[in-house]
Amino acid sequence: MDEGTAKHNSHKWGFGIDLPAGLSGLGAKDIPPGARTEFTPKHTKTQYPSSPAEVRKKSVGPRNVILATLNPSDIQRLEPHFATAHLHIGEVIGEISARPARVWFPETCVLSLAVPMNGGGGAVVSIVGREGALGYRNADCEVTTLARLVVQVPGTAISISVAALRALPDVPRGLLVSLRRHAETMFAQVAQIAGCNALHPAEARLARFLLEIQDRIGRHAAIPATQEHLASVLGVQRTTITASAAALQRAGLINCRRGAIEILNRSGLEEFACECYSVLRLDLGSS
Ligand SMILES: [Zn+2]
Repeated sequence: MDEGTAKHNSHKWGFGIDLPAGLSGLGAKDIPPGARTEFTPKHTKTQYPSSPAEVRKKSVGPRNVILATLNPSDIQRLEPHFATAHLHIGEVIGEISARPARVWFPETCVLSLAVPMNGGGGAVVSIVGREGALGYRNADCEVTTLARLVVQVPGTAISISVAALRALPDVPRGLLVSLRRHAETMFAQVAQIAGCNALHPAEARLARFLLEIQDRIGRHAAIPATQEHLASVLGVQRTTITASAAALQRAGLINCRRGAIEILNRSGLEEFACECYSVLRLDLGSS
């Protein structure tokens, strides 16, 4: 999918869970006629550091935790296949019923998994930042994605094609272990947010989502968001987001400005958020 097509589909939502092929038809009719189902980013050659220690030392550049914990020999084997993409908010990089073409390792971007519904609407059920990866599938299985993978926060991600991974004589064990461990974590996250979306009030869910995003982008960064965007994330009407954000702002917890939200009182927002945030809390050492 070229960037133009990706932007055309940016109002759709993504979900990157791998399913057996027999379930691949779920949500397929939500794909617009003629829409391509793979996203091919405009890659630039990745300037990848030579060791995990170098990864950690860099203030910019590759900062994905999974890649940072690989040993140098694994990095050297994978590095020729790495590419860096600059992703934009709302871009769809993985489509329903498509076989994942690439494994994505977020660096400064945040990706989401979302369930779209017929007739519009949907809800995000998982978000992944530099702590994880998306698009992985077992190289021995032919599986497709349930829904779309969408960019929540713009930024960079390293990716490697599934074909390149499968062509390796043996995929580095450290990478497989990390990917599978993260996949398990992600399923737990999906289950928690499914319950959250069904049971908890919009204000508390909005607080939880903002905290989850901030955990991944750093505490001094504003969160890119519009009311329409947040409505799609939480699966509510835009007016509900307006009222929820206004309530948080009146309480002095956030400041809404055009296209972005600042968190003014993090501890207060944590108290306001539903219990799910404490379950989903992520410590990436962000400051
Ligand atoms: Zn909740």
